[in-house]
Amino acid sequence: MGEPAIPGAMSPLGTPGEFAADEIEGARLLFAQQAEFLLGVVRVEQIPESDVPEIAFAGRSNVGKSSLLNALLGRRGLARTSNTPGRTREINFFALDGRLTLVDLPGYGYARVSKNQVEGWTRLVNLYLKGRVELRRTLLLIDARHGLKDSDRSAMTMLDEAAQPYQIVLTKCDKVKAEPLARRCEDIAAELAKHGAAHPHVAMTSSRTGDGIPELRATLSALAIPAQRG
Ligand code: GDP
Repeated sequence: MGEPAIPGAMSPLGTPGEFAADEIEGARLLFAQQAEFLLGVVRVEQIPESDVPEIAFAGRSNVGKSSLLNALLGRRGLARTSNTPGRTREINFFALDGRLTLVDLPGYGYARVSKNQVEGWTRLVNLYLKGRVELRRTLLLIDARHGLKDSDRSAMTMLDEAAQPYQIVLTKCDKVKAEPLARRCEDIAAELAKHGAAHPHVAMTSSRTGDGIPELRATLSALAIPAQRG
């Protein structure tokens, strides 16, 4: 596909040679568009039908989900994320150039929420995951410093059972030295082998330094409706 990869153009956290220069550039252009807030839902019946491919973002509270969304979208960012006070239990939908919909799932694993709230989260997200044919991939964000926690494993099981493909994205990789980071990746990859719906490649990102962000954009861009040519 396209032009050959530019040697040395990948960030240290990317996968060298995985993307050609024109794929990285096409993805940059897609994510440079203003992400338009579509709606926030608290009940599954509120989710409108759509024929635009969706990418969902999931992870424990504080994993760096808002920061990653903002890094992907550049300085325009998202005006509204599930971190916004009062909106923590919503699923928020954002349109990107009518070619891709970004779905911000509420964070889980927050110590101070009640059992009822956890059940509410699980129910809403589960219903969304089970019925959503447009959903192309869920990015399950994991803090590179902490690795997989039990609540992440529960989320993985939920995704396996919903037969929804997902990919692990490590966040805050700037906080971990290269060697332990590589080991963390290997450990997670070994665990992923036991999960049917998991993508084998663990993406490494830092919203602070921008490492891994162009490659993640290219990964997601490949799942979007192609750009009109000419
Ligand atoms: P969310 O609750 O998952 O949306 O997490 P936030 O995006 O609000 O980030 C939680 C905390 O982690 C904030 O203090 C961020 O500044 C910090 N953080 C997020 N991403 C990074 C990163 O890539 N590197 C570092 N060092 N800190 C980060």
